[in-house]
Amino acid sequence: MLTDSEKALARAVLIHGPISRSALTTRLGLSPASLTRLAKPFLDRGLLVELDDTSDGSVGRPVRPLDVAPGVGRFVGVKLTGEALHAVATDVRASLLDSVSRPLASTAPGDVAAEIARAIDELGLTEPSGVGVSVGGSVRQDRVEYAPFLHWEDVPFAELLEHVVGVPVSLENDLVALAEAERWFGLGRGIPGFTVITIGAGVGYGLVVHGEVVRSREAGLGLGGHLPLSANGPVCQEGHRGCAQAMLSSGSISAQVSASLQRPVEYAEALDLAAAGDPAARAVVDAAADALGRFVALAANLTLQPATVLAGEGMGLFAVAEDRVRSAIDADRDPRADPIQLYVDDTAFTAWARGAAAVAIQAAVDRLRLD
Ligand SMILES: [Zn+2]
Repeated sequence: MLTDSEKALARAVLIHGPISRSALTTRLGLSPASLTRLAKPFLDRGLLVELDDTSDGSVGRPVRPLDVAPGVGRFVGVKLTGEALHAVATDVRASLLDSVSRPLASTAPGDVAAEIARAIDELGLTEPSGVGVSVGGSVRQDRVEYAPFLHWEDVPFAELLEHVVGVPVSLENDLVALAEAERWFGLGRGIPGFTVITIGAGVGYGLVVHGEVVRSREAGLGLGGHLPLSANGPVCQEGHRGCAQAMLSSGSISAQVSASLQRPVEYAEALDLAAAGDPAARAVVDAAADALGRFVALAANLTLQPATVLAGEGMGLFAVAEDRVRSAIDADRDPRADPIQLYVDDTAFTAWARGAAAVAIQAAVDRLRLD
């Protein structure tokens, strides 16, 4: 196992590399000599590389940046929904190499594990360095405590899948995993605190404070999805009027537009109709945009973190109603408060699967040995 300072070095280069030695000593609070000593075993083992001398412009001093060696590690991230799995192959920085989706004919844990093994084959990775799996539900110590879409209760899925695929498996709640990916490799890189709001089949909420993702049992319960956002909205399955699910989930938006137009309308078509100016679709989408803006503002107001990453497979809503979302944010924000920095991850299911890969990458750093 790595010491704490070795781990900090590995993380800093992974997240911020290529990074100059001077930037590293500042970031890690080390002397140049200590950094040289700390980095040596990583360089000797070919995990890190020293790039060619370049100048940072200040009196021509050499910078000699450090970076992760190219080709170190290949990872798989898998997002499970009730109907399908979405898998990605990534490099050690969770950059996308390939992706595949497969329907789930059965959600029995053994069948899902077999389907993941097929997806890994399809991705062409014979022996990945790690596999990460994310699910909507509560996850504790590599067990799924409760995942309603999969109808799982207390399933030791990491262990089960490790037997099938023969490599280390990391299991995490999907919102936590997504927040980890945004924090280490995504739009939240370098931002100490931010909220994550996802829209799609469901509505999810995650939180990063002081550079760490908030991980609690509550994080897996999806409570933010039922935050009340509108007094006049439709009712969710649990009976809340105008909650986040009722206002923002793709199923609720398509159901409202379908009811108005008296024909079945899918989510994507509902957004297209709104963009084209259909009044019924526009009214539903505008109300959703108002609710999303309120959600962003409330999240910032309550957590005191004025930055939000928006993600999820339903982000098309933001594309057709961005101005309305931004006005709604302003309406619920004190003008003396910092403006909210809004980051939009529009990579849909890829964002979820990359989240799972990021968790596998973090676990691989924790497993690293230098002896
Ligand atoms: Zn609700």
